[in-house]
Amino acid sequence: CGIVGYIGTNDTKEILLKGLEKLEYRGYDSAGIAVINENGVHVFKEKGRIADLRDIVDESVHAEVGIGHTRWATHGKPSKVNAHPHQSTSERFTLVHNGVIENYEQLKEAYLADVSFVSDTDTEVIVQLVEKFAAEEASVQEAFRKTLKLLEGSYALALLDSENADVIYVAKNKSPLLVGLGDTFNVVASDAMAMLQVTKQFLELMDQEMVIVTRNEVVISNLAGEVMERTPFTAELDA
Ligand code: GLU
Repeated sequence: CGIVGYIGTNDTKEILLKGLEKLEYRGYDSAGIAVINENGVHVFKEKGRIADLRDIVDESVHAEVGIGHTRWATHGKPSKVNAHPHQSTSERFTLVHNGVIENYEQLKEAYLADVSFVSDTDTEVIVQLVEKFAAEEASVQEAFRKTLKLLEGSYALALLDSENADVIYVAKNKSPLLVGLGDTFNVVASDAMAMLQVTKQFLELMDQEMVIVTRNEVVISNLAGEVMERTPFTAELDA
């Protein structure tokens, strides 16, 4: 399983698909990408191989921001419906997740009793919580942070907001996730290997940190809202 993300100035579909191919060695049963442009969010997902996903990605959709996922099913059988990305009810938020949310049933009962769920995944709870809290909190960043504070278990997350096409929200806890740095773009990946195609400069993320990734900025903070400084490292690997 694995996650990739790209926000920049080139079309993102091929970058995401290539990145996911580099993560195939980690094992997976389904795959998907979501890209966002001025027309909104476009989700493509499929059970099976990256090659099967390639077949259904609409070549005519041009987008410079997107996220991708390979799934190793833990909650809900391998299927197109359970494949990531997952969306909130209004389709405002789109999320990919690696890991396991141990308290997802309790969170469903406590906060989302009136929400109808589309998939059998633990992941869908996260994106529905972000949507719920976005209506109550001052910013999406605060809604995301509030959600993260409630999660028990492991997660690597990348989130898109259809109302702001210029940011990818990222977080991790006990699942690997890195941010990669470019001149006019930034990327996200479970493993540097997935993004060596565009950069060798990476930032390590610590557990329970969240990151705001835009084309020209990466801001890491902890769940208390304090900004964290981080020095990039160079991945000594060949693409
Ligand atoms: N627990 C999530 C699911 O079953 C994510 C699995 C993964 O890490 O790929 O959909």
